[in-house]
Amino acid sequence: MHRRNFVKMFGLTLMGSAHGACAEKSQGYMTTSNKKRIVVIGAGLSGLAAAQELHRQGHEVVVVEGRDRIGGRIWTSSKWADMPLDFGATWIHGTQGNPLTDLADQINAKRLTTSYDRAETYNTSGQSLSEAEETRLEDFRNRIFGALEKAQNEDPDVSIRQVIEPLSRQFDKSSESYRLINFILSGEIEQEYSGSTERLSAHWYDSGKEFDGNDDLFVQGFGVIPEFLSQGLQIELGQVVTEIQWEQPLVRVITQKTEFLADHVIVTLPLGVLQAGKVRFTPELPQNKQIAIAKLGMGVLNKCYLRFPDTFWSDEVDWLEYISENHGEWTEWVSFKRAANMPVLLGFNAADRGRALEAWSDEQIVESAMQTLRTINGVSIPEPIDYQITRWATDPFSLGSYSYNPVGAVPKMRQELAAPLGNSLFFAGEASNEDYFGTAHGAYLSGLRAAQEILEI
Ligand SMILES: Cc1cc2nc3c(=O)[nH]c(=O)nc-3n(C[C@H](O)[C@H](O)[C@H](O)COP(=O)(O)OP(=O)(O)OC[C@H]3O[C@@H](n4cnc5c(N)ncnc54)[C@H](O)[C@@H]3O)c2cc1C
Repeated sequence: MHRRNFVKMFGLTLMGSAHGACAEKSQGYMTTSNKKRIVVIGAGLSGLAAAQELHRQGHEVVVVEGRDRIGGRIWTSSKWADMPLDFGATWIHGTQGNPLTDLADQINAKRLTTSYDRAETYNTSGQSLSEAEETRLEDFRNRIFGALEKAQNEDPDVSIRQVIEPLSRQFDKSSESYRLINFILSGEIEQEYSGSTERLSAHWYDSGKEFDGNDDLFVQGFGVIPEFLSQGLQIELGQVVTEIQWEQPLVRVITQKTEFLADHVIVTLPLGVLQAGKVRFTPELPQNKQIAIAKLGMGVLNKCYLRFPDTFWSDEVDWLEYISENHGEWTEWVSFKRAANMPVLLGFNAADRGRALEAWSDEQIVESAMQTLRTINGVSIPEPIDYQITRWATDPFSLGSYSYNPVGAVPKMRQELAAPLGNSLFFAGEASNEDYFGTAHGAYLSGLRAAQEILEI
């Protein structure tokens, strides 16, 4: 049967309905009120924020989502009934002035604070750092960030690795100094920005802004925020968009099952999905938008939660850090013991290592994590009773964790990604937020911005 026969608009199957005739003859389409008909592609934070705002202003909104759940890169697992776990975003980074704090307050969402001040760092053989080692680490930190600051005022732009090269080549690859450098690059740069230091731009890796305040996580999981934002919205789950025909009076959003028509469409597809060309734009997107999509980077941060019968690590710390032999190997861990009283550790793998690990089996990943934990805590520690592992790079609906600025990209490209195309197509999503890319609040604010653009037409 021809696709047209499956056309859906705002939940009404048009086939045989009065709207159907309009849909078949888009030239003859007339609005009977000032209500705008809007399709939002993606039920992540940016899409839900945009949809909720437009719905609140009285417009007809449908959210079209490929997955069978809402939230996108906010995804709370309920596998462990006594401890909801976040596979995607965990923290409101910087609670002061952060719009997500207001949302969390509105629903009285219980939060806990974790702090980098409560961190313990272990050397490669698993001992807590001595004072001398702490001093050496601090010295390398000053040299690395000093070199990066200098490089930000010099042309041309190069990768962070290239900036650090004159420092790192002074040391043998098996030396402690070399490991300290890698530890800083992995723990403080790659885990935060998700891109490899081989590609992260020295000029722009940290071009975003930050809110002040604590890092707070949700006791019931970050999922409470998309849940709240989705209230009252019409959301079509399991609708994988394959094409958007946008240069016509009505925009046509074609999915694997049906079609949706709208006056305006907001695209919140993750950068990874746009880069992979999984959704065809007809006509093609303008050149500057295509360049922005190609040049910005989509990085990786993966999580491995391990649940133990009991804690065998310090009750006092929130973060355990490990100066690994190989770059990026289980460098950063979060303990849920102090904050949530749970015998759970969360290990991170970012950038190239995070991507490579996705090809490993769960058992291999857990065994590798356990080798590090045994080095730190001794060979007699118990085996985990369960685990949960993410694989964001191969998730077809995100193809990465969040965006970063590689060499070749400049912040202005995020404005180009965000720019509307006429009155038809609007763009949101974390990657389109020049100030707060890579974050949940950045996604949320981008959704509000796109909604405002439509309201101002
Ligand atoms: C592991 C990890 C940890 C993170 N930690 C934090 C943190 O602690 N704090 C923080 O602030 N941020 C964090 N982030 C970043 C934050 O999660 C994201 O920036 C934010 O959730 C992105 O929202 P979005 O709306 O832009 O995109 P998404 O949430 O990805 O929404 C896009 C939606 O589009 C849908 N979609 C994709 N393709 C199609 C298609 N073809 N058809 C229909 N629908 C489609 C997707 O399924 C998705 O629901 C983290 C992210 C990850 C992955």
